[in-house]
Amino acid sequence: MKYKAVRGMDDILPEDAQIWQWLEKTARTELEFYGYKEIRTPILEETGIFVRGIGETTDIVTKEMYTFNDKRERSLALRPEGTAPIVRAYIEHALYNVSPECRLYYIGPMFRSERPQKGRSRQFHQIGVEVLGTNSPYADAEIIRQVNSLLKLFGLQNFTIKVNSLGCKTDKAAFAESFKKYLSDKKARICDTCRDRMKKNVLRVLDCKNESCAEIARQAPDIADNLCGTCKDHIAKVKNALKGVKLEEAKNLVRGLDYYTGTVFEITHPSLGAQDAIGAGGRYDNLVKDLGGPDTGAVGYALGMERIIIALKKEIPGSDCAKVVYIATLGDAAKIRGIQIAEKLRKSESFADIIVLTDVKEASLKSQMRTADKNNARAVIILGENELREGRLTIRNMVKKTEESVEENKLFEILKNALEG
Ligand SMILES: [Zn+2]
Ligand SMILES: [Zn+2]
Repeated sequence: MKYKAVRGMDDILPEDAQIWQWLEKTARTELEFYGYKEIRTPILEETGIFVRGIGETTDIVTKEMYTFNDKRERSLALRPEGTAPIVRAYIEHALYNVSPECRLYYIGPMFRSERPQKGRSRQFHQIGVEVLGTNSPYADAEIIRQVNSLLKLFGLQNFTIKVNSLGCKTDKAAFAESFKKYLSDKKARICDTCRDRMKKNVLRVLDCKNESCAEIARQAPDIADNLCGTCKDHIAKVKNALKGVKLEEAKNLVRGLDYYTGTVFEITHPSLGAQDAIGAGGRYDNLVKDLGGPDTGAVGYALGMERIIIALKKEIPGSDCAKVVYIATLGDAAKIRGIQIAEKLRKSESFADIIVLTDVKEASLKSQMRTADKNNARAVIILGENELREGRLTIRNMVKKTEESVEENKLFEILKNALEG
């Protein structure tokens, strides 16, 4: 019997783990600069949190959530997203008493039973941010500015931030009514799913990828025209505070979760194809109260890590995060010397971001060079009996394909040049 990983749940193998760790480390450092603190909630929650929070007619809850009954017949769910569990924790531990506005971030796996495709796995990973305890447009502006900065720090340039406002609960309900009216004589031209959505959650028609539905959505009345004075003022302030950040107005961008009100945004990247979002977020001013907490506003976003990695590989092909130095040695004495040099390099402050590999197979020089190549080594230090006797080393620059013999005490200097060049 040969076992395989569950479909849509992928192993992250060592060669890929490097980029994952780098993304996580970069995100943590940047978010902590902004004053965000990490929160880690369990992967399993009571199903009700998501039904109540995300909305019982959403695709996530009706089709995609992994739920099961435990031995005591409680319905539990693998979390399909991070916001509802964080709101649950915020209320359960009365975090609103700790600080009037609570800046949190999370990094971890989420689960949705969708058809696996490019950038869409059943276990996927998100980096997310929530600011709870404020209704202010300046919180929306802060997280959008901050996600823009984080994506650039990752090395991405070609992304687009699309922004819209859904308005408050009242505006949203009024728009749903007028949109339903608009659709009433077009029922024959929309898909079956959308005909069903018209009854349960009409705004979701705006998200439909079906070409005929999309065309009808493009001609639809504009949500922005339906906003009340307060909501118009709010989104205007958000945009004003984001001067200098490239934004695109996205008429009728709604997002597939019921809890959003007011500002919503989506970040897209051309490398992803039709489903081109690498992240999304928005304001959810009713969720804390709906889940039993105080009446307070909140805003947040989540980035899909698998999708960011696809975008990164597209934009920066061959980008590797750490520089590898391989020490190739021949003979026992050279091996011992090689281990000492490796230790010195790893501890040296002038080589903070390098990985040093040594031979652990007692392989031939040729085979060690192949190993160095497979590990994308930038430089190989070669140490044989001759070098050892003369107190010299050979440094091979694997990028430029050049080799030079150097005295051992010049090693650091010449290696540094080889790694930077
Ligand atoms: Zn409003
Ligand atoms: Zn449709």
